[in-house]
Amino acid sequence: MSFWQQLKISHRYAQFPPSFYTKIQPEPLEQCRWGSWNTSLARSLGLPETPDDTLLDAFSGADIPPQFDPLAMKYAGHQFGVYNPDLGDGRGLLLGEITDQQGRCFDIHIKGSGRTPYSRMGDGRAVLRSTIREYLCSEAIHALGGPTTRALGLITSDSPVFRERAETGAMLIRLTETHIRFGHFEHFFYTGQLSELRLLADKVIAWHFPQVSDHENAYLGMFEQIIAKTAEMIAFWQAYGFAHGVMNTDNMSVLGQTFDYGPFSFLDDYDPHFICNHSDYQGRYAFDMQPGIGLWNLTALAHALTPLVDKAALEQALDQYEALLNQAYSRLIRRRLGLYGQLEDDSELCHDILGLLAAEKIDYTVFFRHLSSLDISSSDTVTGLFSDQLAITSWLTNYLRRCEMNAEDTGSIISAASRCEQMRQVNPKFILRTYLAQQVIDAAEQGDFSAFHQLAEVLKSPFDEHAEFEDYAKPPPDWGKGMVLTCSS
Ligand code: AMP
Ligand code: MG
Repeated sequence: MSFWQQLKISHRYAQFPPSFYTKIQPEPLEQCRWGSWNTSLARSLGLPETPDDTLLDAFSGADIPPQFDPLAMKYAGHQFGVYNPDLGDGRGLLLGEITDQQGRCFDIHIKGSGRTPYSRMGDGRAVLRSTIREYLCSEAIHALGGPTTRALGLITSDSPVFRERAETGAMLIRLTETHIRFGHFEHFFYTGQLSELRLLADKVIAWHFPQVSDHENAYLGMFEQIIAKTAEMIAFWQAYGFAHGVMNTDNMSVLGQTFDYGPFSFLDDYDPHFICNHSDYQGRYAFDMQPGIGLWNLTALAHALTPLVDKAALEQALDQYEALLNQAYSRLIRRRLGLYGQLEDDSELCHDILGLLAAEKIDYTVFFRHLSSLDISSSDTVTGLFSDQLAITSWLTNYLRRCEMNAEDTGSIISAASRCEQMRQVNPKFILRTYLAQQVIDAAEQGDFSAFHQLAEVLKSPFDEHAEFEDYAKPPPDWGKGMVLTCSS
């Protein structure tokens, strides 16, 4: 039996009627080679821990095994608020689905594999820069405990790809339980293909939300699940300072996973109005707009579901979004602050510190990490970050008084040591800072992936100390602040 035959590879998406996709072969890049391979993810899928040329040929498209059946998905979506019917996998292909050792089924998708019928004016390619950024960030968010697609591998090449300048062509192997986006539903709705719309919903329920199949209206149940998952994802982004940058409905996974990484950025200094995408002139996708845009996108999805669900029921479901997001955010931010239980003044305490962080442009990640170390460091490490000593000292006094009320469900008081210990498990020392990503990209473009591997390794355990990589935990130097990121990828 060949190696490929031993894997559990299926093609359930390909069972949809042909209007859902176009079958097409990848166009390999020149002189492909491995840039990275995600050993632990590969192991969980029964793939070799060390990738060889057979795997390279298979994933790069040079020699596709019969177990893969590449296809480009058709979808549409609202881009910056405007409906675009002409979207689809313009540079990506679904190779099939693979079932891991726990029985979970993942799409195997390659991004940067050449033109498809949905490429429009594009070249079907992805550059090494954006491929490295997606690889590092999706794995970093996974390690932080956030919902995200995963990166199985990165293939680099000698093919030049032209953006603002000539760059290196590369491919990402992306894994996720589904690549179905809000825009898939919009496509079938706006083209009036209502039996396809229903079929899509039936399969999303069967594959991803089987728990709603006995709901009075399973389609409404599905929508409620999507709302809940989207709210959880955006609460995670807000609590961890992640700005996605291009929250178009074609970049919204129905599973509420961080998806289609483009000009994203983690906040360095805390700036609620931060716009990471320099192509976003209006600030539509600014950091503090994300919760509202989540609702906008869910409303666009609701509209596409009107043939399946009563409008009033969809509206009622949408009404739950804000509360779900606030609950999830409150849970995450109280955990980051080490506040157990939910007391009346907690939201004020949180609001006050965010106001101080914004007023003084304090590094968001460093602040929380220092606050998590009050058992081993003096409070100067926190107060020393601020210039308004009166404000921070008064906040800290209130905060520590509140912490004294921290109690287990049993009523026993939680010590400062134990609070801080638990806070260090949820407040990362390391995030993917934009300037760090740029440094490893610069080296990788010269053929040296060692800094990339080092950074990827540290980001796998972002809550650990990694004393030898102290520099990665520091806020950016002046040259590394506010780096220009655009949709170009
Ligand atoms: P994105 O902005 O990456 O979410 O992509 C929006 C749409 O443009 C999707 O339909 C993509 O498949 C397509 N697209 C983006 N970049 C390219 C490219 N270089 N070549 C072809 N299609 C692309
Ligand atoms: Mg996209």
